[in-house]
Amino acid sequence: MKIALVGIGKIALDQHVPAIAASPVWELAATVSRQGAVEGVEAFTDFAKMLEERSDIRVVSLCLPPVPRFEYAAAAIRAGRHVMLEKPPGATLAECHALTALAQEHRVSLYATWHSREADKVAAAKAWLSDKTLRRLKVTWKEDVRRWHPGQDWIWEPGGMGVFDPGINALSIVTEILPVNIHLASATLEVPSNRQTPIGAELHFAHPHGAEISAVFDWRQTGEQTWMIEAETDKGTLVLLDGGARIQIDGVEDALVSDNPLAGEYPRLYANMAKLVAQGEIDMDLRPMVHVSDALALGRRISVEPFND
Ligand code: NAP
Repeated sequence: MKIALVGIGKIALDQHVPAIAASPVWELAATVSRQGAVEGVEAFTDFAKMLEERSDIRVVSLCLPPVPRFEYAAAAIRAGRHVMLEKPPGATLAECHALTALAQEHRVSLYATWHSREADKVAAAKAWLSDKTLRRLKVTWKEDVRRWHPGQDWIWEPGGMGVFDPGINALSIVTEILPVNIHLASATLEVPSNRQTPIGAELHFAHPHGAEISAVFDWRQTGEQTWMIEAETDKGTLVLLDGGARIQIDGVEDALVSDNPLAGEYPRLYANMAKLVAQGEIDMDLRPMVHVSDALALGRRISVEPFND
C-alpha cells in the first residue's frame, strides 16, 4: 500500500521512515513538509497539492505536532484517505471526536496510534495483571527535556501539552494494562513562569475498587532517565521499566529482552494500520488523552522557575 508521510521532523525520520522501509506491506510514496524530505521519495510542500496529484496514495500518516494536525487530518479524510495519527491524536478531545465522525461519514479508517502500547513487555504486563487484585500503581516518568526535545517550541505553547507529551505515553500503557477504567481525582502542575505548559506534574486517580493510582512526570531529570510503572497486587509486584521494554515480576527480570526492545513499536503500529484499512475500521481510543485533558482542567497550577532551552 502506498502511503504519504506528513511532517518530516524528528519522529518521522527516527521511526516512521525506517518502519515503513522495513515493512513488506507499505511503500513510502510521498512526503509533505515545509523543510524536510526523504531521499528518493517525491517531496511536496503543499498538502492539498499532494492529495490532488497523488490519488494513487490512499493512506496518510501525520507526524505533525498536535495543534496543526486537525486541519491536515480533516482535509485527508474529506479527500477519501485513510489516516494514521501520531500521539496525541489531537490538541483537544472535541477535535478527535470530530475526526471520528468525519471518518465514519467518509467511510475511511482512522487510527489514533499510541506507540508505547506496542513496547515489548506491555502485553505481558496486561496479561499478568488481568487476574490479580490491584492495590497500588505508581508511574514515574522522568526525563531531560533538553535531551529529547531540543529547540521544540511547540511543546511549550498552548496545545503542546508540556510534560504530558511524554506523560501521555505512560498513560497509554496504564489504560492498556489495567482491566478497569480509572479517572483523574486531582493533579498538581508545575508551569515555568515564562511558559504555557507544565514541566512537571503529579496525578492521582480514582480506581473503581479503591487501588491507589498515581503518576509523577518530570522533565527536569538529568543523568539517568526513568520511565517506570510499578504495580502492587494481592499476588505479587510487577515493574515495567524503560517505557515498557523490560518487565520484572517480584524482582525477577524476564530474561527475554531483545537488543533493541523499542524497535518493534512503530513496525507494530504500521501492521495495525494495515489491518484497520483492510477491515475498514476505526481505532480512536482516547482514554490517555482524557486523563491529560482532565489534569489540565482540574490541576492546581504552581509557577516554577523559567525554562530556557
Ligand atoms: P517536530 O520534529 O518538532 O515536528 C515534526 C514536523 O512537523 C516538523 O518537521 C515540521 O515540518 C512539522 N510542523 C511543525 N509545526 C508545524 C505547523 N505549525 N504546521 C505544519 N507543520 C508543522 O516534532 P516531533 O518530535 O517529530 O513530534 C511530532 C509528533 O510526534 C508529536 O505529536 C509528538 O508527540 C510525537 N512523537 C514524538 C516523539 C519524539 O521522540 N520526538 C516520539 C513519539 C511521538 P516542516 O517544518 O518541515 O513542515
